Amino acid sequence: SSVIRELFSYGLERKKVVGADKVYDFSLGNPSIPAPHQVKDAIAKLLEEPAEVLHGYSPASGDPGVKETLAQSVNRRFGTHFTGANFYMTVGAAASLSICINAVTNPGDEFITFAPFFPEYTVWVENAKAKLLINPADTESFQIDFDAFEGLLSPKTKGIIINSPNNPSGVVYSAETIQKLADVLRRKEKEYGHAIYLIADEPYREIVYEGVEVPYVPNYYENTFVCYSYSKSLSLPGERIGYIIVPDEMEDSKRVMAAVNGAGRALGFVCAPVLFQRVAAMCADVPSDIAAYARNRDLLYNGLTELGYECVRPQGAFYLFVKSPEPDANAFSERAKKHDVLIVPSDSFGCPGYVRISYCVAEKTIVDSMPAFKAIMEEVKAEQK
Ligand code: PLP
Repeated sequence: SSVIRELFSYGLERKKVVGADKVYDFSLGNPSIPAPHQVKDAIAKLLEEPAEVLHGYSPASGDPGVKETLAQSVNRRFGTHFTGANFYMTVGAAASLSICINAVTNPGDEFITFAPFFPEYTVWVENAKAKLLINPADTESFQIDFDAFEGLLSPKTKGIIINSPNNPSGVVYSAETIQKLADVLRRKEKEYGHAIYLIADEPYREIVYEGVEVPYVPNYYENTFVCYSYSKSLSLPGERIGYIIVPDEMEDSKRVMAAVNGAGRALGFVCAPVLFQRVAAMCADVPSDIAAYARNRDLLYNGLTELGYECVRPQGAFYLFVKSPEPDANAFSERAKKHDVLIVPSDSFGCPGYVRISYCVAEKTIVDSMPAFKAIMEEVKAEQK
């Protein structure tokens, strides 16, 4: 079961008892900003099209026109040379990752990811009969700890999963980090004599603050899968739309794309919702509206650090990863729950001793929750005396 979902369900029940405005639910990464108006305009326009086109099947890998439009948009932004043939349309990043992992895995293969990481990776990797190894977190910077990494790589390594901007730390991997990762992987590919795939999980690519650059991973490493989603960038998580890119530069790229198609078919992730494929294409160049998230980040970060909480200042996504002021983050999360503050303990992110606070909420929730965060800290400090 998912700790995040459990907390969210608890919050829904609790709101019925004490009132919605008395529960400070920071559990889920559900965008609080409405989809941009261009999404609504696109839907309205598309609804004028013949129903059999709009609601019919597309080819399994997606509408060719949509894929071409998305490829051109990505090329303009990142200087790449993709065509529609490099794209596979999916139902969100979840399906994108599941498909990529299944496409390249033989039973017994290993994947490595970097703590803190999105807990679903374990589910997707194990479902493909592979094993997920966890590289411990560098809790100073939350970039990659390369010392530990070298020890986890072996001839069994099939792939590496990275997520930047990161859920839950909010950190963006720097160009140096990605370059170093690419260098290590190329060296190991040579040593082992087979490809090591880098799976770039990118639902938060557009949600960055103060113009922080998010390196475009295929420009650093040939054997990269891009797993993208519109869940966060266009605030469309319920519509389940995203894509995979298999670059031509990838080793055996045509065979890998065939495997992606095969895995998509085997998993039942074919023909992503056609209406939203078309919306994605029409909104390909629409910027994400992140002003409210930026305000929330500042309010929460400044408010909590003033109260004595410790965390890194997030550069992207909409999470704050806060050091638990007591050793057991599960106990701390339970304590917070008693104050109707719902925050996720970090064990399932592979980095115990922290809590994740999702700030994709109404600004008022953050402002109103501050007295509770103050009371929680005072309670912990009183007990530690
Ligand atoms: N990867 C990360 C890091 C996420 O945070 C999420 C969702 O929160 C996903 C993947 C799944 O995204 P999607 O809704 O597009 O399937």
